[in-house]
Amino acid sequence: MLNPIVINPHGFCSGVMNAVRVAKKILDDNPGEKVYSLHQLVHNEMVVDELAQRGMVSVESIDEIPDGSLVLFSAHGVSPEIRKRAAEKKLKITDTTCPFVSRIHREVCDAVLTNKKVIVVGDSSHAEVKGVTGEVVELGGEFSVINTCEDVDSIGWDKASEIRVVVQTTLAEEEVVNLLAAIKKRFPNSETSAASSVCTATRDRQKAVRDFISLGKQEGKKTGVLVLGSPNSANTKRLAKITEEKGGVAWLAGTLEEVQKIDFSQVEKLGITAGASTPETLINEVFSNF
Ligand code: SF4
Repeated sequence: MLNPIVINPHGFCSGVMNAVRVAKKILDDNPGEKVYSLHQLVHNEMVVDELAQRGMVSVESIDEIPDGSLVLFSAHGVSPEIRKRAAEKKLKITDTTCPFVSRIHREVCDAVLTNKKVIVVGDSSHAEVKGVTGEVVELGGEFSVINTCEDVDSIGWDKASEIRVVVQTTLAEEEVVNLLAAIKKRFPNSETSAASSVCTATRDRQKAVRDFISLGKQEGKKTGVLVLGSPNSANTKRLAKITEEKGGVAWLAGTLEEVQKIDFSQVEKLGITAGASTPETLINEVFSNF
C-alpha cells in the first residue's frame, strides 16, 4: 500500500494568502454588497467558488464593473492603464499586488527612465506580465516578452542595446537560468537584478519537488508526484513539468474526485505537493483519503 508523503513547502504562498485574507475581510465588512475582482483573484477554482458564494464577482474587463463599486486587484498586479480606468470609474480599490510583483513594476519603470529597453521573460498572456509590460507602455519604453531561447534570437534590437531583464515570478528556475544565459549572449549589455528570478515561494516549492525526486532515485524507487491545483495556475503546471523533467511521474488534479480516478500503481514512492494558489483544505482532504 502506497503511503504518500506531503512535500514541504507546498500550497498557498504569502501573496495569495494575503489576497484571500483581504478579500474575506472586505466581504465580511460589506455584507450584501458585491465586491468585484478583476480576473480571478487566485488561479484556483475552489478558492474562487468559495469567494463567489460570499459575494465576490470575477470579471474579465474593468468595463464590466459598475462605477463606484468595490474592487480588488489580485496578487498578479495591474497596469497603469487599468489604474487610470479605475479612477475614472471612481472604483473603490483594494490592491493586493504581491510585493514581489511590485518590485518588478519598479524595476521596469527604472529601466525605461534610464533609457533601457526591457525584456520580460514570461508568458505574454499572463496577468502578471500584462501588468508589467503596461508600465513600459505607459512610460513610452520598448519591451519584448520571451518564453524560449528561440524567442531571444527573434528580437530585432541592436546587439549593443542597453537592456534590463525581468522574470515572471512563477516560472521554472532552471528554465530561467538558460534563458538569462541566452539573453546575455545575444545582448552583452543586458543586465539582471533582484527582479530577474522567480520569487522565493516559487523557488522553494520547486526545489522541494526536485529534492523529493532525487531522494526517490537514491532509494532506487520509481517516484511520482501528485500536484494539486488548477490547470490555469502557472506555478502548479510547472511543478508537474519539473517532476517529469527530473524523471518522476506527475499527476495534476484539482479535486478529490479527480485524484480518486488516478491509478498510482506504477510508482513505489508518492509525494503530494500543491501550487501556490491551492488551499490547504484540499491537500488535507486528499491526504486523509489515501
Ligand atoms: S507566487 Fe510569488 S510573486 Fe506570486 S503571489 Fe505568490 S509570493 Fe507573490
